[in-house]
Amino acid sequence: MALIVQKYGGTSVKDAERIFNVANRVVEYYDQGHSMVVVVSAQGDTTDELIEKAKEINEKPSNREMDVLLSTGEQISIALLAMAIEKLGYPVISLTGWQAGIHTYSKNTIARIKRIDTERIKRELDKKNIVIVAGFQGINKYDDITTLGSGGSDTTAVALAAALHADLCQIYTDVDGVYTADPRVVKNAYKLDEISYDEMLELATLGANVLHNRSVEMAKKYNVNLEVLSSLNRNKGTIVKEVVNVEKMLVRGVARDNDVARISLINIEDKPGKAFLVFSLMAKHNINVDITLQSIGREDKKDISFTVAEHNLEEALKALQENKDVIGFEDINYTKNVSKVSIVGAGMASNPGVAAMMFEALYDANINIHMISTSEIKISVLIDEKDADLAYNVVHDKFML
Ligand code: ADP
Ligand code: ASP
Ligand code: MG
Repeated sequence: MALIVQKYGGTSVKDAERIFNVANRVVEYYDQGHSMVVVVSAQGDTTDELIEKAKEINEKPSNREMDVLLSTGEQISIALLAMAIEKLGYPVISLTGWQAGIHTYSKNTIARIKRIDTERIKRELDKKNIVIVAGFQGINKYDDITTLGSGGSDTTAVALAAALHADLCQIYTDVDGVYTADPRVVKNAYKLDEISYDEMLELATLGANVLHNRSVEMAKKYNVNLEVLSSLNRNKGTIVKEVVNVEKMLVRGVARDNDVARISLINIEDKPGKAFLVFSLMAKHNINVDITLQSIGREDKKDISFTVAEHNLEEALKALQENKDVIGFEDINYTKNVSKVSIVGAGMASNPGVAAMMFEALYDANINIHMISTSEIKISVLIDEKDADLAYNVVHDKFML
């Protein structure tokens, strides 16, 4: 008898038939004697539709009201799933984020979980109830509803598994595990039996949205037994854990991110403190700077280029323009038509030829590289967005076949 936390994503609960499919899976585990905590996302495209609805009313609504709206998606799902389980004749109770004791830091729309008061859930489990919890939401110190950012239901599930010391956390989605690349874009991608927390964290951060990156961070921190699998078949999934065999596998997976924009500051004075000014300004605006490149100085001038998430572009440009004189650049240019393709693998740290192999694959496909960034376990390149799918495929095939 175990305590199991399961999470079902939007496609897994998109209509009545899928909800009963989930209900049946849950009671199957319950019948085996397990204590069940089940986290659900909003149905299908509900979250996106709610965002559209908000925009019809107000292009820039406050984040507080946005969260009041967005949290309703998950609330619909928990009620419907609980009703389905009632209908099957099992004891069940649904809980919103605050009822489940999920406390977050205050920042609306991108809140982080601070702590979980598990008493209520434990009481319900003691009463033999199946507990259904709304993903993606919590409450902050002002008693306001918060949400955790796109994909945040994964993090709700892992956080609950950690807080309840669950034996297992299963993330059910619309693919049957973590693949070497997104199987919807890379035709030769294949499923991994296992992947390390570190590799999964890099992949998730670099664009593999199969898991929310913070859920992986949390799983690593609390050593949560994590599994990714499909709600639509019975295939074996992927285990995410501390150590996996790196033997022969230089690269574990490839990721692509289209939510990238490049900014270049042209003709900045070539003297100390300029990069500091630019990047501290971005930090002040809470904008994450990713790949950066500084040209060699010429005639006392240099250029600095860097990438930010596309949704941060407008704010970044505004801040830079407002500080044009302080920073002292002549011109600014930018583009949204770029993508980032990255390879990730714990095994590459000690293998010098990996970068060359990646660049060769891109050269063979006649794809131009704009920027490069490397770390111990990943290499990323910035390329034109029009080349992104091709690059994703050729880089994948170079390493993974
Ligand atoms: P859910 O609604 O269940 O949370 P998501 O859409 O958030 O599902 O995540 C699942 C999707 O992630 C898959 O349908 C797939 O297109 C995408 N994906 C991206 N990279 C990968 C990868 N490496 N392995 C598996 N799926 C991936
Ligand atoms: N419904 C939220 C979203 O789509 C959270 C989630 O599905 O994980 O981003
Ligand atoms: Mg998701």
